[in-house]
Amino acid sequence: MVKLKSELTWSFSRDRLFNDCQRAYYYNYYASWGGWSKDADEFSRKAYILKNMRSVDAWIGDIIHQIIKWVIQNKIIKKDIAFEESKQKAKQLLTKTWEQSRSRLWEDNPKYNLNLLEHYYKRDLDRELLRIKLEKVTKSINNFYHSSLFEELSSLTKENFLSVEDLDSFDFEGTKVFAIPDFALKSNKYFLYDWKTGKPSDKDMLQLSCYVLYAIGKWNIFEEDVCVVPVYLNQEEVSFEQVKALSVTEVKAYMRDSISKMKEVLTNSSNNIADIQKCFKSKAVWKCKSCKFQEICK
Ligand code: SF4
Repeated sequence: MVKLKSELTWSFSRDRLFNDCQRAYYYNYYASWGGWSKDADEFSRKAYILKNMRSVDAWIGDIIHQIIKWVIQNKIIKKDIAFEESKQKAKQLLTKTWEQSRSRLWEDNPKYNLNLLEHYYKRDLDRELLRIKLEKVTKSINNFYHSSLFEELSSLTKENFLSVEDLDSFDFEGTKVFAIPDFALKSNKYFLYDWKTGKPSDKDMLQLSCYVLYAIGKWNIFEEDVCVVPVYLNQEEVSFEQVKALSVTEVKAYMRDSISKMKEVLTNSSNNIADIQKCFKSKAVWKCKSCKFQEICK
């Protein structure tokens, strides 16, 4: 088997964690390295288990993304999935993954079995919460079904669909950058959609702007050919309005600066080894309560 080599890569989520708490960034990207192996040392294994943990809100977001992806993929092959079927599938997913977490199936396989932070850290989590979350999932999926985009999907041909949550990467000045636009569509322009299941955040624009950079390289197009559309699915009125992304020059400057800061915490850049002492704990202690790594953060 080919041995995986650790390398410094960049993604919007990596940058977000780096800025949230460098110590959490260290646990997530460095301490957990190799923790997937049964032979891993205890600390790496623990960090790997914690890395794969999801909060309830992130888990709900994952399910909404999975259902919309499934609906669109079927649209591409001209198969319509009824809303009731989607709702049913979401409910099954929710129940199945909840059980994975409750019965700690992740102990054997953390990557493919849900481990909810709230279960792990013994927070209040009951069936009533599951019902409330199912309502949120249903509302978001319902909003998608009643959108102008959903209507438009039926009239499109296979060539209009560019990607549906496909993990992809591109090179930026020697660093591999990961990008996963939720949905990319080509009509008179190139439209990049991002499903948002939480509240709007000022970081959203940066994420979408990174996708613009990806689209330019991927489809060999110009900045002005790309339209970005954040879709807040859990609102009362869901808008599919395109928004103005940051310029490519601004995004590149941001990424360059972020990568350079990530390199500063390395002690060995060719083997991508970071120094925990250079990865400072966040001073915003309120973040620790919802942090996956609180068990190992001493
Ligand atoms: S517990 Fe707090 S300081 Fe430690 S990694 Fe998490 S957020 Fe950072």
